[in-house]
Amino acid sequence: MAKLGLQDLELKDKRVLVRVDFNVPLDENGHITDETRITASLPTLRYILSQGGKPILMSHLGRPKGVRNERLSLKPCAEALSFYLAIPVHLAPDCIGPLVEKMAQEMGQDEVLLLENLRFHRGEEHPDEEPGFAGQLAKLGDVYVDDAFGTAHRAHASTVACAKLFPTTAAAGCLLAAELRFLGEALLHPKRPFVALIGGAKVSTKLGVLKALSRKVDTLLIGGGMAYTFLKARGIEVGGSLVEDDALDQARLIMEECLKSGVTLLLPEDLVIAAEFKNETLAEIVPTREGIPKGWQGLDIGPATVRGWIPLLKAAATIFWNGPVGVFEFPQFARGTFEIAKILTECDGITIVGGGDSLAAVNASGLADQIDHLSTGGGAALEFIEYGHLPGVDALTDIERC
Ligand code: AMP
Repeated sequence: MAKLGLQDLELKDKRVLVRVDFNVPLDENGHITDETRITASLPTLRYILSQGGKPILMSHLGRPKGVRNERLSLKPCAEALSFYLAIPVHLAPDCIGPLVEKMAQEMGQDEVLLLENLRFHRGEEHPDEEPGFAGQLAKLGDVYVDDAFGTAHRAHASTVACAKLFPTTAAAGCLLAAELRFLGEALLHPKRPFVALIGGAKVSTKLGVLKALSRKVDTLLIGGGMAYTFLKARGIEVGGSLVEDDALDQARLIMEECLKSGVTLLLPEDLVIAAEFKNETLAEIVPTREGIPKGWQGLDIGPATVRGWIPLLKAAATIFWNGPVGVFEFPQFARGTFEIAKILTECDGITIVGGGDSLAAVNASGLADQIDHLSTGGGAALEFIEYGHLPGVDALTDIERC
């Protein structure tokens, strides 16, 4: 069933409660280091303002775990947003309560109200334990818009619970709708060959999506820390590399599943190994089949692996990449991840990159505009592939479209 869109809402003089994703990275001085998530919300906010609506924005930032923490205030986001929209953006002292309700009531035209960090309240992440919290948020708006694709896989107060309190007026914002349109078309009904490249630290966090991918893709390339659990499951010595022993059986199952369904699953054929988990350390390139000696650990994919993956990526009609293939935070072990990012910008197929680290690598290549779709939600994109739907989207108002 299609969902209500922003354009379906009557917005004139309405207080529009918008769930945005301003969970931006901050440096140690509290400055925003990447404003992509703020600029990504602009089409929705500009549309609401152009229709005479009054946007009341809610977002989380970081993990304050239900406790007020001034270092995770949304103040820098209010300032950045005010710059981009060139109108006043008022930061409320909290996200609920009488004072915030008064501010919401008294809003004028061409003003934005940004509520303070939702996660200063435990009710945001635990709507079942504190059901009143969503109600207090809902009170602030006449209609509801969800534009936070990055949190659409979480059934939180400001997403699912709030949407349900607007049974006929809960709409998808421009960003959310664009993500769903793109990911729906490209990943649920992919053009083939479909190649997925999955990296990152832990297999356990991505087991579900790996299983789902093993039934959908033509080729599954596995890099990053998670590759070592697969390598160990294949009987290869992995030294002190990151391994999740609890996930060995699942890794074996995924490999068997791929074999049965004719999916090519490739692990790195060579590795950059390190004497210690830090940048300034002794490093060597070893063929994977020789194994990693005791006391060493694998921190990046090697050059032969990259060379071997290039033709597969170039021949793909759809490529989905999530997760760095090495410890890219250490320059000495960032090469694999940055080479993959560069290769993706040269591919003819539809390229989709999801997840903060992979996005950062693509951005650093300076060629991000050559990627077809940069998804703002890594976890949400993975769950969308796994289940084909997202709780935050399911909760929005259904609409018949001819
Ligand atoms: P994720 O959030 O699961 O996508 O994981 C991202 C993290 O994986 C990054 O911080 C990388 O440093 C880390 N990572 C990638 N490759 C390795 C590796 N070989 N060993 C340990 N950590 C890794």
